[in-house]
Amino acid sequence: MSVSIPFDNSYARLDPAFYSSLAPTPVTRPDLLAWNAGLAQELGIDPGTETDRASVFGGNTVPADASPIAQLYAGHQFGNWNPQLGDGRAILLGEVQTPTGRFDIQLKGSGPTPYSRMGDGRAWLGPVLREYVVSEAMHAFGVPTTRALAAVTTGDSVFREQGALPGAVLTRVASSHLRVGTFQIFAARGQIDLLRDLTDYAIARHFPDADGPMGLLKAVVHAQAQLVAHWMSFGFIHGVMNTDNCTISGETIDYGPCAFMDAYDEARVFSSIDQTGRYAYGNQPRIIVWNMAQFATSLIQLFDDKDTAIAQATDIVHGMPAVIQDAWLSRFGRKIGLVDAKPEDQALIEDLLAMMQAGQSDFTNTFRSLSSGNGAAEILDQTAFKAWSDRWQERLKRETAAQDIMRAANPAVIPRNHRIEQMIETAVAGDMSLFERMMQAMTSPFEDNAEFADLGRAPQSNEIVPATFCGT
Ligand code: AMP
Ligand code: MG
Repeated sequence: MSVSIPFDNSYARLDPAFYSSLAPTPVTRPDLLAWNAGLAQELGIDPGTETDRASVFGGNTVPADASPIAQLYAGHQFGNWNPQLGDGRAILLGEVQTPTGRFDIQLKGSGPTPYSRMGDGRAWLGPVLREYVVSEAMHAFGVPTTRALAAVTTGDSVFREQGALPGAVLTRVASSHLRVGTFQIFAARGQIDLLRDLTDYAIARHFPDADGPMGLLKAVVHAQAQLVAHWMSFGFIHGVMNTDNCTISGETIDYGPCAFMDAYDEARVFSSIDQTGRYAYGNQPRIIVWNMAQFATSLIQLFDDKDTAIAQATDIVHGMPAVIQDAWLSRFGRKIGLVDAKPEDQALIEDLLAMMQAGQSDFTNTFRSLSSGNGAAEILDQTAFKAWSDRWQERLKRETAAQDIMRAANPAVIPRNHRIEQMIETAVAGDMSLFERMMQAMTSPFEDNAEFADLGRAPQSNEIVPATFCGT
């Protein structure tokens, strides 16, 4: 029985200027390494046999009713304008309409496209499994994100700095792959009719209540503000917040050198190529505003009265830091048990973070132990903590369900960077057991589970993996 996917491909029905039509490039020996059966079911996919799945999600068989395309976009990479990017190693097979929405099904690492530039169009197993685990963890945490449906090894080698590595293809599911960069390319080229079509498409698909381009800007600014505050609350560092990696839907996308930090540090960077710390943990709220300013700049091209449009868009973008701040306060308030934190609670949160920064406390485990009533264990300066804790306990007298709120906001286990590196190393050697355990742990990350205590533990100094390499 073959894989059956109920495709309905709206993007491929748009003007061909938005994409190039081409099929994935076949691989030598596709082997299904991971399969997300629950997600497949949500998407209405009939999974067929394992051999068929390997063939479809490795790129060797184009399933019935797919319209395989590589999407065109541009983007600012580390602040520098790149006039043309596009899916250099991804193929969108098509979309499915489900009761909860429309979703793209995309292969990543599926061979060269007209947008590959110098790249080989491929991915190696390490980043494929990293994206699989981290995106599914984000979903388990409730953070809007693309998801992972399948990982297939190709039987071909991929050559990176480290040498020859096993090739793999990830199947990614997204509520769309529209990016800020998708708008930028048509705005920069002065292709206003295409920009207008794209804007109408994005509104219909993601924000049907939005009133025109300015309404779309407002909606995306809001969604991205919520998203970044949500990332911050899990200690997540995206690592490559280029405008081509910034969605219109407000989902996290393009997991490259991303990581959850262990010891709390505002300036923490994992990406080996982010030399200046542009995408450091604490910079993310500023960078997302910069990205939205680029989005606004593109949308302004749609207006005849540019002065008015610029004034309106400027107001929206200038209002974004306050929206992020509100979302941040709400998220971090919940992390210390406050159901509806107010500006006067800000200092309590900031003083805790300052102690954590000074003591290099583990971000996840400090908040988790606050939820179980023994926060001092994670914080070095006991005297400072005692004084803070007295203030906190006083404030908690006005809360009725602090413990429950905290336990739902502070995971017991996250996919820690050193475990991900171990998982990749063992998977390359043919052992998928750590991958399976990490995925199992992510089915209920807010529950205490003795079976996964080792995954929850912070790395010892000799275990810390300080950087993730961008050689994806
Ligand atoms: P990223 O920032 O990793 O999302 O990728 C930036 C751009 O580089 C996108 O246009 C990708 O499609 C492209 N790209 C990344 N890796 C490769 C590769 N191995 N082959 C071809 N294109 C690639
Ligand atoms: Mg990208």
